[in-house]
Amino acid sequence: MPNFTNRYYNAMPKDPIAENYVRQVPMAMLSDVNPTPVSNPRLLGYSSAVATALGLTVQDITSDVWLEALSGNGVIKGMQTYAHCYGGHQFGHWAGQLGDGRAIALGEIEHNQQFWELQLKGAGLTPYSRMGDGRAVLRSSVREYLCSEAMFHLGIPTTRALSLVWTGDGVVRDMFYDGNPETEPGAIVCRTAESFLRFGSLEIFSAYNDIERLTRLVDFLLQTYYPEIPFTGEVDRKTAVLQLFDQISGRTANLIAQWMSVGFVHGVMNTDNMSLLGLTIDYGPYGWLDIVDSGWTPNTSDNMRRRYAFGNQPNVGAWNLMKLAEALYPLVGETEGLQDALDKYRQTFQEQYTVLRYQKLGLALPSTPAKNAVVNRLYEIIEHTETDFTILFRQLSHLSIADLEQVDTIEKHTECIKEAFYQYETWGVSMHQRWSDWLHSYREVLISDGQEDRTRLQAMQAVNPKYIFRNYLAQLAIDDILEGSTQVLEDLHTVLQNPYAEHPEHEKWAGRMPEWARNRAGCSALSCSS
Ligand code: AMP
Ligand code: MG
Repeated sequence: MPNFTNRYYNAMPKDPIAENYVRQVPMAMLSDVNPTPVSNPRLLGYSSAVATALGLTVQDITSDVWLEALSGNGVIKGMQTYAHCYGGHQFGHWAGQLGDGRAIALGEIEHNQQFWELQLKGAGLTPYSRMGDGRAVLRSSVREYLCSEAMFHLGIPTTRALSLVWTGDGVVRDMFYDGNPETEPGAIVCRTAESFLRFGSLEIFSAYNDIERLTRLVDFLLQTYYPEIPFTGEVDRKTAVLQLFDQISGRTANLIAQWMSVGFVHGVMNTDNMSLLGLTIDYGPYGWLDIVDSGWTPNTSDNMRRRYAFGNQPNVGAWNLMKLAEALYPLVGETEGLQDALDKYRQTFQEQYTVLRYQKLGLALPSTPAKNAVVNRLYEIIEHTETDFTILFRQLSHLSIADLEQVDTIEKHTECIKEAFYQYETWGVSMHQRWSDWLHSYREVLISDGQEDRTRLQAMQAVNPKYIFRNYLAQLAIDDILEGSTQVLEDLHTVLQNPYAEHPEHEKWAGRMPEWARNRAGCSALSCSS
């Protein structure tokens, strides 16, 4: 029987109203709410690794009792169901109260001194559902289920996914926002993290000028999730809050540097989607760079402004942290320390990103102007060549110093990386020249580093994934489920647990995005209509 600890639920002020209807919820951090039952639940997938981390067996997770719990049709003894209250800045504007509109927490489990809050995403209406129905469609649930696990196995901080359940109920969505709503199959993901608290969880109390609750939540954060920060109460709160902000800034910098290093675009970096623990949270219209373009966003709602485009993520991180700093300001009373941490964020990001980019190219640290020039030049030319980000770095991870040498024409020279390009056959002389020059300069700095090829290439293969969760792969899993099979879902789940391994039997998933996927909805661009 899992050990339900429910620390957040037990410690936080609750909404006094018990009925479940959409409303403003002042002076509370959560509302009691039960999931709405579904008609015909079926377990489509689960992670045995996550189950084990929670202290559950495969028998548990595949049992009828757990199916009831994972679909919102029942609870297990000790579970506590509730919805979080939070606010947030959406696309640069204060949006007021948001909250868990389609997520319902099942409480928190402790196992092996680790704590896991569980949440059902798509489990029905809550007081925070605003205009929504509290449900999630299959396509967005498959995407969250697989992508959060892929992220975890890339070594990037993230929420995880325990299960994916088919509800048996239809959900109506206007996928293209064009007045043609359709009924789609519904699903529920059970996701888990140490905490789902967001920047917006603090912002809302600051916006209400509710310093009492702001203080209470910050104290809880410090004591529960950041125990390494010295904090005894009123006397040292200011110093502790500054350290807390500094730590959150550092974690955010690391997180975004890691996203950038694997070509991940979150797509909706509103402050309600920014974790106070530095996790990747709320997988919506995210994407991976099938074709390198810093200005690319997978989110169709952001097509005009491209606020959350790939290359803008570090800046948006800073903007979001500024909003968090404003929320914490009442507890600090001066801007200086907060500003210092914000400045440090940019520096940490730059340092981390430099390290990651060096590792991707197998360059030894510390950085030098000559090596920086090679790195920067590469990032410049991939913007102007239709390049598959993942394949390019994976190919470079197999090239010895000898392979990089030009022994014949420039056309022959660039063949070693041709798989990474969409239009390689149409390249003219100047494109071949550009890439041949780069290969040449790359080879020179590698020679001056003097590392052994084998060690260098092994290290590169350990940081340049062969498999990422490309948008079109999600579509394959979804189509397969709609045809009654979970094979693709299971196979992707397995392959993505070892993204740096070769998996020759799944080679096709490591290739470039197929032509059919270029313009198919859900494969290149996505709406928020999940
Ligand atoms: P997101 O785009 O996931 O960050 O969601 C922004 C806000 O809208 C959050 O408060 C969500 O809970 C809410 N929301 C999104 N979709 C739905 C839905 N289908 N039903 C209810 N609330 C929703
Ligand atoms: Mg969200």
